[in-house]
Amino acid sequence: MNRMYFRSPFLVFNLLLIALGGCYTVPETGRTSLNFISTGNELQLGISEFEKMKHETPISSDPAMVGRLQRVGQRIAEAVGNQLPSAQWEFVLFDDPNMINAFALPGGKVGVYTGILDIASTDDELATVIGHEIAHVTARHGSERMSQGIAAAIGGVILNEALKGDGDRNEWTAAYGAASAYALAIPFSQGHELEADHIGVIYAAKAGYNPEAAIEFWMKMNLVKEGKERSPFFSTHPSDYKRIDKLEALMPKVKPIYEQSKLRYR
Ligand SMILES: [Zn+2]
Repeated sequence: MNRMYFRSPFLVFNLLLIALGGCYTVPETGRTSLNFISTGNELQLGISEFEKMKHETPISSDPAMVGRLQRVGQRIAEAVGNQLPSAQWEFVLFDDPNMINAFALPGGKVGVYTGILDIASTDDELATVIGHEIAHVTARHGSERMSQGIAAAIGGVILNEALKGDGDRNEWTAAYGAASAYALAIPFSQGHELEADHIGVIYAAKAGYNPEAAIEFWMKMNLVKEGKERSPFFSTHPSDYKRIDKLEALMPKVKPIYEQSKLRYR
């Protein structure tokens, strides 16, 4: 320790955050993740980003398609129960038939593009997509990534300041802001994608949707990938046979969940 720590209260504050509130246990997988963003803060961030997107992108008003998204979305959100009590679920269908994509923002904001509805042609398949996005939210992947980015940036500034022997609050603030923005802009890692598949298929099964549809859905996506290599979806959702193998391995665990829950939805 040297005296620069005392001259930089912002650093002390951040280190305390990391030390005190630094861990989150991911539901269903039980993985311990680094996360020092509060659920209240991530919700506010998700709401403001989602409002921006709703102003920038046309929203579908097709009653059948919108109704389908709301029905499947609400049913999966109910199956999640109280795993993330701060979540404010909202499902919006963006009107872009060329966009084979869906996304989730921290706090429960899920966007689906009309383009992916053509591929997720059954409700079971749509449940795969929505279960996956909801899983990113309950696993808090967005704020985990921000936490990693901020921790790395703080580490970088610490090193820089240690070399210079001086502390500057603006530098800390800039590093914090840049790391947060960067973390939101980059795609999820493959680890996060596979974890969202894992948790998502459990949610779909709990909501009474056939988890085997996940395998059919990703098979179809691979076919689309071969024809549409440059679709934006594939930069954010690595569609490969690895995820299908992983999903197949989960079937013995999730099928009994589905057999039980489907009785409730008859
Ligand atoms: Zn994903």
